[in-house]
Amino acid sequence: MISEKMKRLAQNNSVIRAMFEEGQNMARAFGAENVYDFSLGNPSVPAPAGVKDAIVDILTEEDSLMVHGYMSNVGYEDVRQTVAENLNRRFGTDFGAGNIIMTVGAAGGLNVILKTLLNPGDEVLTFAPYFTEYGNYVMNYDGVLVVVSPNTVDFQPNLREFAEKITPKTKAVIINNPNNPTGVVYSHETCMELGRILREKQKEFGTSIYLISDEPYRELAYDGVEVPFLTKYYANTIVGYSWSKSLSLPGERIGYLLIPNECDDFELVYTAASIATRVSGFVNAPSLLQRAVARCIDSATDVEAYNRNREALYNGLKDCGFECIKPQGAFYLFVKTPTPDEKEFVQRAKKYHILVVPGSSFACPGYVRIAYCVSHDMILRALPHFKELAAEYGL
Ligand code: PLP
Repeated sequence: MISEKMKRLAQNNSVIRAMFEEGQNMARAFGAENVYDFSLGNPSVPAPAGVKDAIVDILTEEDSLMVHGYMSNVGYEDVRQTVAENLNRRFGTDFGAGNIIMTVGAAGGLNVILKTLLNPGDEVLTFAPYFTEYGNYVMNYDGVLVVVSPNTVDFQPNLREFAEKITPKTKAVIINNPNNPTGVVYSHETCMELGRILREKQKEFGTSIYLISDEPYRELAYDGVEVPFLTKYYANTIVGYSWSKSLSLPGERIGYLLIPNECDDFELVYTAASIATRVSGFVNAPSLLQRAVARCIDSATDVEAYNRNREALYNGLKDCGFECIKPQGAFYLFVKTPTPDEKEFVQRAKKYHILVVPGSSFACPGYVRIAYCVSHDMILRALPHFKELAAEYGL
């Protein structure tokens, strides 16, 4: 028989995945062009051409024993140095290779840092709505996820409740900016206040509270909005980054953790995270991809393609009468459902072959997440059906 932990996970197998399969079944039954699947956060923009060129160049130019070999658990030193210098250029920081650990995507990085930090029973705070997997990642290390309730006015974090929920057992806080599922970018003011509260609570309790900033969507921001760089707001910040979305490489599993020197117990945390990478079975981030992202460090995905989708879907849904705040980043819209029972709405949407994810999957019922990392054409074809759906609710 399987473990109790995995039994629970197997029972609650991700709603998002189940919906993906439902989409595939619908496509078979009704034809792919008649199904409007907005359920998955899989990039719709191909990786920049430079990525393929870089991979080909690496395979032809670099020593194959090196390219396919093991290296230090934290990743290649030259790659880490390239990542650090890129951050320094963009954010005026002073990081070096010794602050970076290459990871198996953001998910790998989050697991490595949680394994590094958590003792059983330690609390990890996060803000609803949040990426569902955080609960599972924290559970992996027998931590307790403490959820701050959503602020549905503008989806900036609810900082008053946050301050109240910090206890002597709080070991870490996970924030995700730009945010999945709301598309909101936490503002400069929010980050200032977040840093202030954390400093105050560390002093009050005499503890170290690490802020883990999960940033796979950092590069996806619109209208020139600035995504605050959290190490500038709070010394005990660890950044988890991934190229899954910024270079459209989610299946390749490549990202990094940034652990600044200013973090409490820096040397211990960095060394332990390196060991956590090894003993979790990752051993190291994929070698070829490490070398590829270093060569493509200044490349970017076509953000304008997502922006076009954002504009079309946001304006189209508003025209139908739906309520939604305009996202400033990532590739999701978080729409208020015309009924408080959003699961009923999700079921009704299926009648029109529209697939969206219920907000309760992100600890925020009464909303649905619509992922607009899809073809522009699909958005245009889906809008009349959203209108029919809206009409059912008298919008
Ligand atoms: N964090 C958030 C908020 C995400 O939305 C995702 C993926 O969708 C991840 C982490 C995992 O990213 P990766 O594919 O880099 O592991």
